[in-house]
Order: sequence, then structure tokens, then C-alpha cells
Amino acid sequence: MNGTNRYPDIDNSSSGDTRNFGAGRGIIVGTLIHTTSGTSSLDWLLSGSARAGRPASADFLIDRDGTRHKLTRPGYYPYHAGESRYDIYGRKYRGNDLSSILLGVELENRDDQRCTYQQLDSLAELLVIVGLDNSWRWPYYLLGHYEVARPLGRRSDPQGFDWGDFMGRLYATALAAQVPGL
Ligand SMILES: [Zn+2]
Repeated sequence: MNGTNRYPDIDNSSSGDTRNFGAGRGIIVGTLIHTTSGTSSLDWLLSGSARAGRPASADFLIDRDGTRHKLTRPGYYPYHAGESRYDIYGRKYRGNDLSSILLGVELENRDDQRCTYQQLDSLAELLVIVGLDNSWRWPYYLLGHYEVARPLGRRSDPQGFDWGDFMGRLYATALAAQVPGL
């Protein structure tokens, strides 16, 4: 946003194991929010999950201090929704199609922690940047992983994520950036 980003971006995408990503990506219409349920998740999301035979990654990982790691190369999508199903704007999506059409963001957070305010602010900033790139209008389209995972209950993240606190920060950030529709 006009070079005034408050949180740093680190591009780690060139070190991602290609088994964690699908080739070809169309439009991104919204965001699927995750928490990591663990610590030191960068290596896992770049390559550890592939080595373990459980391919999974994200578009971005946000550290507890708000630092953003970009994990996915342009033209690819990360496997982040897993077994999943959801209707978006009247169309049915599942699995990899959901991973492709939704931006996947992981917040570094154990299940017994709360996400930090820096993470919430950094996520708000990220979504406004991505939203402007993808011509999103307000209100933004946001889901938690638990909502699309199938069978229901297969995933319970994000944990420790205060949706009301986040939405206030997102609204303020989007308003300041003059997001269309506001
Ligand atoms: Zn998840």
C-alpha cells in the first residue's frame, strides 16, 4: 500500500518443495484463515510437510511479531484447504479448487495461545494489499479452515483468533486504503 507497509515481507517462495503446490492459478476471491497448531512452522510449510508425505503449505505464514513469509511462487497455489467442500457465490468448490480460489494464510499460533495483535494487524495489511491486486470490493470474503474442512470437525483452526478484533482492524486498514465499496 503505497510503500507504507508496517510489517516486513520475506519472500521464501523459491525454497518451497514443489510437492506442496499445484500448478496454475486463476482468480482469488477471498481468504481462508489457518493457525499452525505448533511452532517453527516455516520449514514445515516450505518442505517438511512434503518430506513427511503430507503435502500442505500456504500463501503466507505470519510470525508472532507480524513478519510475513511469502511461501508460494507466482502461478501456483498451495495445498491448504485439504479435503473440503464449500459453496462460494453459488458455485460448489472442493479440495484443490478451494485451495486455488482462496488465499491461504497461516498464523503461527499454538492451540493454547492467542494470536497476537501484530499478527492481526499484519493479516489486515496483507488482505488489503492482495485485495487491491485482485480487485476485491468491501466486504471481503473470509472463512476459517474449520468451516470448509470435510468431514465436519476434521479441522478446528483457526484457534485463538479473535474475529471481532480482527474485523475492526481490517475495516480500519481497508478504509484508510480507500478499498472500493467503502
Ligand atoms: Zn488449517
